Amino acid sequence: MNNKTSPVDCCDTPSLISVDDAIHRILEHTTALPETEIIVLDDALGRFLAEDVISTINVPGYDNSAMDGYAVRSSEISADIELPVSQRIPAGSVGSPLTEGSVARIFTGAPVPPGADAVVMQEKCTAGETTVTVNTSVKAGTNIRRAGEDIAAGSVVLKAGQKLRAQEMGLLASVGISQLMVFRRLKVATFFTGDELVKPGQKLAPGQIYNSNKYTLKGLLQSFNCEIIDLGIVPDSLEATHKVLAKAATQADLVITSGGVSVGEEDYVRVALQQLGELSMWRIAMKPGKPVAFGKIGQTLFMGLPGNPVSVFVTCLLFARPLILKMQGATQYLPQKLLMTSGFAWQAGGRQEYLRVRIETKNNRPVVTLFPHQGSGVLSSASWADGLAEVDEDIKPGDSVKYLPFQGLF
Ligand code: AMP
Ligand code: MG
Repeated sequence: MNNKTSPVDCCDTPSLISVDDAIHRILEHTTALPETEIIVLDDALGRFLAEDVISTINVPGYDNSAMDGYAVRSSEISADIELPVSQRIPAGSVGSPLTEGSVARIFTGAPVPPGADAVVMQEKCTAGETTVTVNTSVKAGTNIRRAGEDIAAGSVVLKAGQKLRAQEMGLLASVGISQLMVFRRLKVATFFTGDELVKPGQKLAPGQIYNSNKYTLKGLLQSFNCEIIDLGIVPDSLEATHKVLAKAATQADLVITSGGVSVGEEDYVRVALQQLGELSMWRIAMKPGKPVAFGKIGQTLFMGLPGNPVSVFVTCLLFARPLILKMQGATQYLPQKLLMTSGFAWQAGGRQEYLRVRIETKNNRPVVTLFPHQGSGVLSSASWADGLAEVDEDIKPGDSVKYLPFQGLF
């Protein structure tokens, strides 16, 4: 194999395509992996439900007190009335029907006894030895949490495709679920092209740089809950690229690479992919980013991201993330975009730009501020930022700007 063959420019679309168009093309034929697995709730964080979860119980399971105080018949209560305390009901025990003309001492979470229709908080009562003086009138229903007010028995608690975050973990536990069916995790193989790349920890020779993209990508893929198969640094030769790509395709559902996808003489990823499978290569009207390759080797999908450190970060968030989430069974995979007030001026450059920005408070209002160096190699911009501003026209301070918070992305 002549490993110095100059790749031809094979872009399917000679003209630039939009970011939205590229996302659409990536997602249109992509479906969730068919494989599911049963896991225990303890291991469910970050996974995606493969089936609807239906509750068999009401939550709360019974009318219960929202306060420490006294369970009463509201019709018997007027300000400064003194009544005997006929029973004491702590959480975890069940009282008896409330005797007429009496109140029950009750604690938060304890079942409201039959006959009582309100709870007066203890701060509004003065306790005697065996009686209590209620210092207020009370409406029926006050401070009672109704059976089923959170979740009704028979209702869908969470739908298939839901990502399980901390609050969903708690919600599932609240209906007694200990095992659940989720989509299997996606296996993603990565490799990093470039003769200049060196592992951190080694000494740099002149002309070399550290393989930072591996760690950017690894962090993102871990946050998307993927199983990662890292195939390391691959030299700029067609032979090496071909070999590693063939290996990656046998091991993973998706292969993601960085570098080697532009039209330079040293860019072999596209050529190797064309030899092994199918490739769509788009020049995307965006900055940073531009060339992104998408293809298939057998059943394994392929995404080739650019090499520049900020480009790899941004294109992974915009293109690889929705693909990965959809393959893992998620029903929500597109980034959240918030309209915020710009604190900066920007001159549009003809392509959709993803600026590294962060929210700061000025005059008691949140505004989007800009990192001063927006070069696609300036990774400190991404570390400084808490989100991306999506900009395709001139912006002046005070204008609305679309803001994509990192928090919602990984
Ligand atoms: P390429 O797309 O291969 O032409 O790379 C574009 C730029 O990104 C070059 O400056 C590369 O040195 C740099 N680059 C490529 N891969 C990596 C990587 N894994 N880590 C850090 N920088 C990289
Ligand atoms: Mg390169």
